[in-house]
Order: sequence, then structure tokens, then C-alpha cells
Amino acid sequence: MRIAIVGCGQLARMLALAGWEMGHHFTFLADPGEGTRCVEGLGPVLYSDQYQSGEALFEALGRPDVVTVEKEHVDVALLESLSTYCQVAPSADAIRICQHRGREKTLLQSLDIATAPFHVVTDAASLSEAVNTVGYPAFVKSCEQGYDGQNQWVLQNTDELAALALEMPTLPPLVVEGAIRFDRELSLIVARSVSGDTAMYPLAENRHREGILLTSEVPAANISQQTQQQATDIANRLLDHWSYVGVLSIELFDEAGVLRVNELAPRVHNSGHWSQDAGVTSQFSNHLRAITDTHPGSTIPAGYAGMINLLGRGADAALLQASDTALHWYDKSIRGRRKVGHINLQSPEREQLQQRLSALEAALYPEGAPL
Ligand code: AMP
Repeated sequence: MRIAIVGCGQLARMLALAGWEMGHHFTFLADPGEGTRCVEGLGPVLYSDQYQSGEALFEALGRPDVVTVEKEHVDVALLESLSTYCQVAPSADAIRICQHRGREKTLLQSLDIATAPFHVVTDAASLSEAVNTVGYPAFVKSCEQGYDGQNQWVLQNTDELAALALEMPTLPPLVVEGAIRFDRELSLIVARSVSGDTAMYPLAENRHREGILLTSEVPAANISQQTQQQATDIANRLLDHWSYVGVLSIELFDEAGVLRVNELAPRVHNSGHWSQDAGVTSQFSNHLRAITDTHPGSTIPAGYAGMINLLGRGADAALLQASDTALHWYDKSIRGRRKVGHINLQSPEREQLQQRLSALEAALYPEGAPL
């Protein structure tokens, strides 16, 4: 099939690499000025500002059978106009909700899915009122465009609140969240095909540094039947609500076995990269299967799998010599804490996997934390 992907980053790259194997052909849609190195050689790249109508863009994209996204921060009106010519999956509505933390949390609340207590605020007075209601520390995040800890503030006291309140006139709408004293962070990746067939990967346990994912481990340890059931219910409610098509990623806080949703991503997710090398159908293949109405493939690995991100650095060749490691490199320039690649690991034993992940982390980040 012909598939157009909105976005040209590493997720688009890995979708296309998986899709070429399945005989699909790709075109990519970039925002003006967006870097496209990740998808070079994988299909034509078009710039969204070059086309005046949905029809012109549809033609230029090569009349795709389906349009999908690698990120939620996309022009929803453009997706809606494309949806009159071909399938858009996930739907423009799912993407519109997931690109705005306020809309997303309001939907979760309406579906009776637990989140952190939250308030959407637009001025200094509503900010102060919300922070006073949720207490300190208060997590404050921009409703749109914030990810990997960007555009976020953790307010510890009234002085920090006063400083942020002063900035409010220049800030976009924000969501104020109460702090959740979670034991750990989990994520759930699910796929639903056009025909409604679903598949769920095991819950992943994720560790972050400075708001950025560092490692994922699968299956997460000590998941009780009740916790798994909560996760499954949350996923099913969301999939049913949207008659969702594609991969949906759900970030969760686990507080003594009770789950709350932190964030949704209407796309493949960094915490699902382990699936590329664990003897299952990868999240990238399953997304493509779902949007082309093919039954999802296997999602349960025989052993244990892990992933560590390469944040602002490459991996020494010596680190990659072990037979249990697989490097995925995005062909990006290295700077700051940018995600430039990841390493996947597998093991028949959980303890061994954890030891290997810790050893890789110590070797990659000898200073203790990514810069
Ligand atoms: P986010 O961009 O919403 O995924 O937030 C980045 C990270 O900040 C999360 O992975 C958590 O570690 C932490 N965090 C975000 N919101 C909260 C909250 N309400 N309570 C406690 N920790 C949070």
C-alpha cells in the first residue's frame, strides 16, 4: 500500500523501515524547516506549506491509501481535509484530543479513567487558585507542545508560584497537576485494526531522567492480576471511545498497584522500541498492520526485553559487541540530550536483563545522568 506519514523524525524512520519489509511505499510530510535526515532514502519528502488544498496535498503525496502520524503535534485541519480523500489513522479527533493535555485529561475523566488532579489555567489568578488547590509540589505543564519534560515547571513553594504567575501573560494555557507519589512509571502499548482486532504488549516499566525516558523493561515486574485488569480496562475504554485504529500508547503512574494515566500518545512510543528485537511483531509493524487492516501480530515475548536510550551521545563500539545488544541509530546529529538512538537487549532471565541494562547505563552515562 501507499502510506503517507506526517512527520520526519525517528518514529517515521522506524515505521518506514518496518513497512518496506512488508512491501509498503512511503511519502513523508514535513513542517517548514523540519529536519528530515531520519527519513532520507525512505521515500519522497514534501513540505506542508507548499500545498493550498487537501486535494493538492493528497495528489502530491501520491494518492496514499492511508495517512498516519509519527507525532501528535500536527495540523488537525489538514488531517481532516485529507480524510475526505483517504483513510487517516488514528483519526483526526484522537489526535486533536491527545495534542492538548487539558482536552486529554477531560476526556479521561469523562471515561472514568483516573488521572492526577488537574486544572487548566490561563492567567495568574487561576494559576494561583489551582496550585493552592493541588498543593506543593505542583506540576505545571503547557497544554500543547510540551514533551520530554519541556515547557514544564515543578513548583515547590509560594516564591516559585509568584515567579511563574508574573510570566503568565506571555505563556500559553497550562495544566496544573497535583503530584502523584507513584512507586514507578509504566506504559501500555496497544494496537487496534480497522476491523477492530486488538493486541496488547505487556506493561513496560520505564525510568526517566530529567523528564526524558532513559530505560524500559518488559514485562514490568510484580504486576498483579488486578493491576493488569485496570490497564486492560483503561486501554479498552479508550480504543472503544474512538473506534481507534493504529497503535495507542498509554503512560501510567503505578501507586501501590493503582493506576492513573499520565499521558496518551496516539502513535508508536519510545517505551515500545524493545519490541523490535524481542521475537514479537514490533510496535511499528503492528501499527502498519492495524492501519492497513491486517490482524495484529504477536506481542508477548518469550523472555525479558529492555531498551536504553542514547541521549546526546553515541555508543562505543565495544559496548555493542555483546550478542544480546542491538543498536538502532537514527542518523541525527548529536547535541544536548537529544534522542539519537537506542540499544535493545534481550535475556531469558529478568535478573540478567536488569544487570545488563545497569551495566550499559553505567558505561553510557558515567557521570550518573544524561547531560
Ligand atoms: P510528562 O511530560 O507529563 O510525561 O512528565 C514528565 C515526567 O514528570 C513524568 O514521566 C513523571 O516522572 C513526572 N511527572 C509528570 N507529572 C507528574 C505528576 N502529576 N506527579 C508526579 N510526577 C509527575
